[in-house]
Amino acid sequence: GEEAMQQGHVERIFVSVRLRPLNDRELAKNDVSEWECINDTTIICRNNLTASDRSLYPIAYSFDRVFRGDCSTRQVYEEAVKEVAFSVVSGINSSIFAYGQTSSGKTYVMSGITEYAVADIYNYIEKHREREFVMKFSAIEIYNESVRDLLSEDSTPLRLLDDPERGTVIEKLIEETLRDWNHFTELIALCETQRQIGDTPLNNASSRSHQILRLTIQSSALEFQGSDKSSSLVASVNFVDLAGSERVSQTNSAGTRLKEGSHINRSLLTLGTVIRKLSRGRNGHIPFRDSKLTRILQSSLGGNARTAIICTMSPARSHVEQSRNTLLFASCAK
Ligand code: ADP
Ligand code: MG
Repeated sequence: GEEAMQQGHVERIFVSVRLRPLNDRELAKNDVSEWECINDTTIICRNNLTASDRSLYPIAYSFDRVFRGDCSTRQVYEEAVKEVAFSVVSGINSSIFAYGQTSSGKTYVMSGITEYAVADIYNYIEKHREREFVMKFSAIEIYNESVRDLLSEDSTPLRLLDDPERGTVIEKLIEETLRDWNHFTELIALCETQRQIGDTPLNNASSRSHQILRLTIQSSALEFQGSDKSSSLVASVNFVDLAGSERVSQTNSAGTRLKEGSHINRSLLTLGTVIRKLSRGRNGHIPFRDSKLTRILQSSLGGNARTAIICTMSPARSHVEQSRNTLLFASCAK
């Protein structure tokens, strides 16, 4: 790990932006669309920018790929995620992130992508009978720097341990061996239920927590094929639905809110720093250990691991400031 990093093998991070359509609430307030994808890679801030805005912010932003509001999640998957997610079957770790403010479409895009990826991996396995595959699934939520198992009814926080061989491991984490597609959809449903516990309109905890769904794939050759002896592979792909990137109001109420806000900022901030450093060539110290999120994902971010980030955005004028912040994050990652 460390050595490969220092040798500076630079695998670029694939950064895409996905606009969602204006929603009913925005339409009811006569909100308008401020952003437009003018081609497959460039998004512009369209109209009614004040002169002072124009002097402060770019009008056009470019990424590996941008998706208009009427694009399907299937298209986002095929063009911005599939290759990175699929590296898992060749023994390469990867992470797919959805980043953006609350209600911008992170969960919408990530749940679709996770399903497409798992379905594709099942198809791949069907076609490769010469190998034996075992798929394992685990799911966690990180809230206030506290890790919870989404496959367990027990909400006791899980501890992180340092394993000399495997790196950071989550103690007592449930890892389900997937039997079939139905088993997978059952587990996804369980995660959704677990994530909504404690969620109310006022205490919207799930929008302030990170969710990581992890699929680990082990495979080995069934028969002895030629001279290929070292054909046992294991790798993980992580689907990460990040906490809302908006600043949580710090004056809203005492105590809890303040604490939540600062933790989210810390872990998103650390992720931003880590990703920026990785995309700049992996020189020097990368602060993986500064947050639970980056500690858990370290082996799927550094080294040979592959990364894709989908930044989700509301096109609404009322959200223009948050959208600019999202694009700033995306720009730092590319
Ligand atoms: P987040 O997870 O970022 O808070 P959600 O994924 O929950 O946001 O999306 C908020 C709402 O907008 C949901 O009702 C979702 O179905 C809808 N939505 C999000 N993205 C899209 C899209 N690309 N097309 C249509 N509806 C969308
Ligand atoms: Mg969400």
